[in-house]
Amino acid sequence: MKITCLGTGSPESHAKRASSGYLVEIGQDKILLDCGGGVVSRLIEMGHMPSDITHLFFTHLHSDHMMDYARLIHAAWDEGKISIPVYGPAPLARITTQLFGEDGVFSTDLKARCEFSGSKEVWVARGGTLPRPWPKPIIQEISQGHRIEGENWSLSTCEAPHAQPHLDCLAFRIEAENKTFVYSGDAAICDDVTKLSQNADLLIHWCYRLSHETKYPTVTEFSPSAAEIASMASKANVKQLLLTHIRKHMDTPTHLEQMKAEAAQNFNGEVGIAEDLLQIVI
Ligand SMILES: [Zn+2]
Repeated sequence: MKITCLGTGSPESHAKRASSGYLVEIGQDKILLDCGGGVVSRLIEMGHMPSDITHLFFTHLHSDHMMDYARLIHAAWDEGKISIPVYGPAPLARITTQLFGEDGVFSTDLKARCEFSGSKEVWVARGGTLPRPWPKPIIQEISQGHRIEGENWSLSTCEAPHAQPHLDCLAFRIEAENKTFVYSGDAAICDDVTKLSQNADLLIHWCYRLSHETKYPTVTEFSPSAAEIASMASKANVKQLLLTHIRKHMDTPTHLEQMKAEAAQNFNGEVGIAEDLLQIVI
């Protein structure tokens, strides 16, 4: 399986890092995990089209994990793909209706594109047929303990302590071809994510703060340092660890080296910092 980091940043605007998004390619399937702001542009930069995505999964519905959701669905629709299966915590179905439903945010745009004679002519000239249906993502709301079976792959979920009770938050484990990839989403250290990460060939784990940034107790508790993440990865017998969700003030060579060094003290496997467009084959 091939994993491409499309967005390794945070909600903070940053030229070097889009918000969260990871492409997982297994056989003919192109599975997108999260779709934060900038992820669709990164996807296109890597030579993929939005309509190439076969499955979209959201760990949680913080804006930096879903800001490009509407763009992805609309762009895929523009390319002729009406339906993409989309999985994520509630209220994903409501949000999707609020975007693409009859009275949704894009309803005026969609009516214009489907009913204006000039738009219909362009659509037919591009090979489309009339009447033109609206985009219709296939929504499945998921929670902890779900397992989705794909073609020669499976995705399992567990709860990731992060922004509860305001948001349901998940971590994902993908197994295929005798390899395992785990993506923490945004997660505090906990038994469930440790268990989900057991024997993973690759763990991509969020790291939202530097080790000395301990002023705010809740942030400190729910945002493990590089060293704490590495200890968990070691306990779970992970082979390769990548830290991600890097905030702007952390993104200096000195800080990144410090994070790697602190992690390496607690972890014998390969440890690195994720970067946009980085690819890993496991
Ligand atoms: Zn979050």
